[in-house]
Amino acid sequence: MRNLRERYVHPSTKAVWAGEKEYRVHGATQVPVVHSVAYTYDDLDHWYEVAVGNEKGHIYGRNTNPTVESFEQKMKELEGAEAATSFSTGMAAISNSLSTFLKPGDRIVSMNDTYGGTNKIFSEFLPRLNIDVTLCETGNHEEIEKEVKKGCKILYLETPTNPTVKITDLARMVKAAKEAGALVFVDNTFATPINQNPLDYGVDLVIHSATKFLGGHADALGGAVCGRSELVEKIFHYREINGATMDPMAAYLLLRGMKTLHLRLKQSCDSAMKIAEYLQSHELVDQVFYPGLPDHPGHDIAKKQMRQFGGMLSFSMKGGLEAVRDFLPKLEFANRAANLGAVETTVGPARTTSHVENTPEERAALGIPESLVRYSVGIEETEDLINDLEYAFAELSKTPITKG
Ligand SMILES: *Cc1c(COP(=O)(O)O)cnc(C)c1O
Repeated sequence: MRNLRERYVHPSTKAVWAGEKEYRVHGATQVPVVHSVAYTYDDLDHWYEVAVGNEKGHIYGRNTNPTVESFEQKMKELEGAEAATSFSTGMAAISNSLSTFLKPGDRIVSMNDTYGGTNKIFSEFLPRLNIDVTLCETGNHEEIEKEVKKGCKILYLETPTNPTVKITDLARMVKAAKEAGALVFVDNTFATPINQNPLDYGVDLVIHSATKFLGGHADALGGAVCGRSELVEKIFHYREINGATMDPMAAYLLLRGMKTLHLRLKQSCDSAMKIAEYLQSHELVDQVFYPGLPDHPGHDIAKKQMRQFGGMLSFSMKGGLEAVRDFLPKLEFANRAANLGAVETTVGPARTTSHVENTPEERAALGIPESLVRYSVGIEETEDLINDLEYAFAELSKTPITKG
């Protein structure tokens, strides 16, 4: 007979239950926030065994904390990983993971459209350490394969990307990397483990900014990495010494946010599809970028490796930057902010948010129009968001568009 206790459990159910039981105390149904820097031991031998890692337990807050560990356990379950560890921010997760494995003389291959901070690590910090960085055109699989074949330590990917939501084929990239003996890291922030599990395609390490969709309420910073124990243990060791530790209060907020991750994403993804279609038909919109649209270049790959197309989209406006400047303040149900993945819809021009560090020429080379608006769909009623856009467009067309 089938053992019902070992049956498949959906990510949505895991988001609610996983990783918590062991950390509850006094019969509480919720994981407590343990605000303690250190842990006391009367038995010196026991203390020693915990300190050297032979027995379970906590010693000092920079290394481990029960609330933070519960967050890590939930992440591990959601990504179907052997192990997970956590960080103060998503950027700490990325920089610590890279620093754990790279040394002078190594080579890393990635793509042009990674998150702005990641791109800065590639262009500014790694070259300073004599690490060779090769950035390929995002979505150009042949070019990435060619560069990986020349030999590299890490192939670093992000899919979907920021801000034009480009898609990279994970299975195909993993195949190329394995042949070259390279590790594959994937930033899974935009998809979340609800929509995509890169480890299923043979990826070695999944990285998250928990600050975005995972937490979902724009009130806590955090990062996580998930993968094989052998890799995660090395990264944990680097982090516990270097100190980019997640705060227990942040862990609590993220744990609470993650319980509704699947519901929030369902609403955001459903709305994103309808909003993308609406925008595509609007006369004041130039281009719409959303992988759920059949004419998006990554649509077929996204369909294959993602369960939903995500809550992020972007669009460029006719009338250039001037139009964007007039349009954005007219939206009622949107924060104009450098964030994404929150329950509130969040908007911003790419030139002010994800690619503020680039020159207009660099943005043009990356295929990012100056009039590109990043639109992170919140959990509001779809109709209200479309009405809000409709109102802003109508107000805009009342004033003649000045050249931007
Ligand atoms: C925000 C973001 C990061 C960085 O996360 P922080 O928590 O802000 O440090 C990394 N990758 C992607 C895709 C992001 O959106």
